[in-house]
Amino acid sequence: MGEKITIALKRGASCVGCDIAIVNFNEDLFTLLEYADVVFAPTLLDVKYDDIKRMPDQSITIGFYHGAVRNSDNEEMAHVLREKCQILIAYGACAHMGGIPGLANVTTKSNILEQVYRKTMTVVNPEGTLPQTEYTDEKGHELTLPLFWDEVKALDDVVDVDYFVPACPPTRDINMQILTVVKDFVEEGKPLPPKGTIIASEKTLCDECERQRSEQIRVDRFYRIHEKDFDPEKCFLEQGIICLGPASRAGCGAVCTAVNMPCRGCMGPTAAVTEQGASMLSAIASVYGTVDNETEIPEEEIDRIMSHILDPLGCFYRFSLPKSQLGRVVKDTE
Ligand code: SF4
Ligand code: SF4
Ligand code: SF4
Repeated sequence: MGEKITIALKRGASCVGCDIAIVNFNEDLFTLLEYADVVFAPTLLDVKYDDIKRMPDQSITIGFYHGAVRNSDNEEMAHVLREKCQILIAYGACAHMGGIPGLANVTTKSNILEQVYRKTMTVVNPEGTLPQTEYTDEKGHELTLPLFWDEVKALDDVVDVDYFVPACPPTRDINMQILTVVKDFVEEGKPLPPKGTIIASEKTLCDECERQRSEQIRVDRFYRIHEKDFDPEKCFLEQGIICLGPASRAGCGAVCTAVNMPCRGCMGPTAAVTEQGASMLSAIASVYGTVDNETEIPEEEIDRIMSHILDPLGCFYRFSLPKSQLGRVVKDTE
């Protein structure tokens, strides 16, 4: 076996689910540790930011960054990880595409602070105080908080990224693909995948989903999952339940549809498209028969279709809004 590599894990605007996903290597975590030493991981080890800042540049083999880039601390540490690591991986949907935090791009920083600190009924804040980024107490102690950015970004919006590991969070199947790449690299000196590779499948989620589906799907309205008794063996879309399988990349093992939940698209767009939401809208149009049979769809019909789809933006761009063409859909109103 070649020399062990070193790994750093750092989170940005993250729910920490991606840290849990690392733990979900289960017993294979010990296999990973045969090939790699973890040298920096604030969630798992008692380390300080200065520890990694003191390390020589490029001294860590692989850095895993998970979570979106939402504030000045996230951005600073993304740059530190980039400097210290030979290979930087955007791990999980938030680092890959902005993820769930990226939905905040439909509004502004000031609207968010106003809502959270002044308008939420469970918050007691009679003076309407908003968080300050600098504060000095009466003894002269200075306290600082990270600056909250107005826009949520994916990791490659702020630093150069070598590989992308999709999903929210990356599933065990995906982690096993990473382990194989690391083993092959350390044990046999095999070359790494080309820069920019998304470590997942090139197929579409529908290709790995085991639910039964017909050649032609036609529906006349969509339902929310609690509005209808549905067949647990059949394709969701065919039964009028929105499932982002046609617009999502495979590789997660179709874990959600296997346990009777429609796909929400956390793997991101398929290898063939860049715009996941538009791709799903096109799939929706085709199951309504509006693409194959009709060149135009009346406006009333569009309204009728959309009236059954709750929160279309959150539905079609749940994980990918910051990387979509829509990008930032609401500009500052301040
Ligand atoms: S990808 Fe999902 S699990 Fe990972 S940090 Fe983002 S929200 Fe959490
Ligand atoms: S649309 Fe959903 S349920 Fe149907 S085959 Fe694709 S992934 Fe499976
Ligand atoms: S089935 Fe869909 S939502 Fe579930 S993990 Fe796979 S891509 Fe993500």
